[in-house]
Amino acid sequence: MELLTNRQLLEHWVRETRSAGHRLGFVPTMGALHAGHRSLFLAARQTCDRVIGSIFVNPTQFGPNEDYQRYPRTLEQDQALLEEAGCDALFLPTVQDIYPDGHQTQIQVRDLADDLCGRCRPGHFQGVATVVAILFNLVRPDQACFGLKDYQQFLVIRRMVRDLAMPIEVTGLPTVREADGLAMSSRNRYLDPPARQRALALFRAMERAQVAYAGGETDAARLEELARQVLTEAGIGQIDYVAVRDPDTLLPLARIEQDPVILVAARVGAARLIDNRRLVRN
Ligand code: AMP
Repeated sequence: MELLTNRQLLEHWVRETRSAGHRLGFVPTMGALHAGHRSLFLAARQTCDRVIGSIFVNPTQFGPNEDYQRYPRTLEQDQALLEEAGCDALFLPTVQDIYPDGHQTQIQVRDLADDLCGRCRPGHFQGVATVVAILFNLVRPDQACFGLKDYQQFLVIRRMVRDLAMPIEVTGLPTVREADGLAMSSRNRYLDPPARQRALALFRAMERAQVAYAGGETDAARLEELARQVLTEAGIGQIDYVAVRDPDTLLPLARIEQDPVILVAARVGAARLIDNRRLVRN
């Protein structure tokens, strides 16, 4: 795997790859990689001739009191995982590579980015959309793979790509979970054993809503209440949201007409965790 530690090296690699006519797959990440990330690289490997990843802990998507400084950085293990997943190149930009002096331009995806995590983390999706647009312009991939674990982020990026007519296929891949159901996340490293146990309630809360939905419950507020109860009973006090929403627009549902998505965000111990799943009739 080639290590591209600055913008010039990346640009050179991209030029060579494109002039060879290869179909290029791209997986942007913030590192501290796990089997969830691995699944994205394996998916890109299936459909592309060359696969490139990036690791960049993007300062602009963190709020002033969030975990930018302490976000886990595990480059050596990350490299080993990527080698094993058949990744061809890894882009490791500096902040200056992404935001050269005088950077002024932001990308805002309205509506989709305003609610849920956008409401709890003001400016977050603007930071995400902007960095992804810059990375897309540098890497010029044919396909980019994202996890549905970050469902709102996936919808925001898909919208941006459509609205700005970027010639990129955006693929969303299923959430990879631990054996007990906890969604894999780089931030799970912040959980001590009791918090790790409590964190399982996110998965169980969504399951509770699924059971009720499959049993005929069609009131979104009632489904949210059932899921919220599971979190509260597990001792999770700081719930950012529990929301049953339209899977395309993320708008609240007066009446459920197509299978909705349930999204949860809560602080558990030292971590803010998010998770989601589609509810299905079975
Ligand atoms: P991150 O480095 O956590 O910002 O995530 C980089 C990419 O990995 C994003 O597209 C995430 O949605 C995806 N991802 C993170 N966790 C998982 C998971 N458990 N399963 C699948 N994809 C994931």
